[in-house]
Amino acid sequence: MEWNEGTCYLNGKWMPLADASISVLDRGFIFGDGVYEVIPVDTVDGIRAPFHAWPHYARLQRSLDAVRISNPCSLEQWLDLTAELIDRHPWPRQLIYVQVTRGVAKRDHPFPTGVTPTVFMNSTPWPQIPAEQIENGVSAVTHADERWLHCDIKSISLLGNVLMKQYAMDHGASETVMLRDGFLTEGSSTNTMLVKDGVVIAPRKTVQILPGITYDAVFDIARKHGIATERRPVTEAELRAADEVWLSSSGREVLAITRLDGATVGNGRPGPVYKQVQAWMQQAKREDALAWKAERGGRTLAA
Ligand code: PLP
Repeated sequence: MEWNEGTCYLNGKWMPLADASISVLDRGFIFGDGVYEVIPVDTVDGIRAPFHAWPHYARLQRSLDAVRISNPCSLEQWLDLTAELIDRHPWPRQLIYVQVTRGVAKRDHPFPTGVTPTVFMNSTPWPQIPAEQIENGVSAVTHADERWLHCDIKSISLLGNVLMKQYAMDHGASETVMLRDGFLTEGSSTNTMLVKDGVVIAPRKTVQILPGITYDAVFDIARKHGIATERRPVTEAELRAADEVWLSSSGREVLAITRLDGATVGNGRPGPVYKQVQAWMQQAKREDALAWKAERGGRTLAA
């Protein structure tokens, strides 16, 4: 099955992705007035499961609350929809996309009344993370963070992020790492963290960054294995002098940034702490898949 031949969920109905359509007056289209989630699904030891589904839906609730859209589904309904969406597709690795917008209304800035949120979910195949990237790391460039001050909301208004990702592409890099007033914020679609003298350090979760599910997973894993962690402001100088710099996201897991603005990070190779965390992350996915099976095992279409 090709990525565009899948089934999607739109406003209570399942349909071929190719047949799905919404009103041009949807406030997501007109204003970018909506929020979203991306949940990775992998097959680990024969169990196909979403990774950290619960935290993703907790963050969706947080984003909905922040923009005052009432959550159209209960957690159980979201998990059921997620399980069904996974089952409707043959791919062992998937990216589940979930979007809720304020709904369809006459174009006018204030929140409309009596409008039903638009709910859209689909799945696409999630390619393997290239072994070459895990082995050698990726390159990044830096840029001033010119986005708004609600980067903690997972808003579908992503123009600032899109421009920053394109900046990376235009400069032959894999990601743009952003700096605000001399301090590290995050990547265009990833969180950024570093290692100095064996300590994993990342910016605190403020309005300046998305509270990444993978960022939390990395910190949980590091702490569990006795690695020191710090969440605090990180200066540009610290970023450039780090022993290791990493990016993290649901789609890319954790990757080492081995070149930053053309300069070598550390010794130019993914560092020892990265290698440990990357391996422990695979173990965490295994544990999470078992938890999903235990909680949801008998309730999917395939069961
Ligand atoms: N920061 C930004 C701006 C993002 O868009 C993303 C993911 O899309 C992340 C960080 C990483 O978040 P997560 O680990 O939840 O995928």
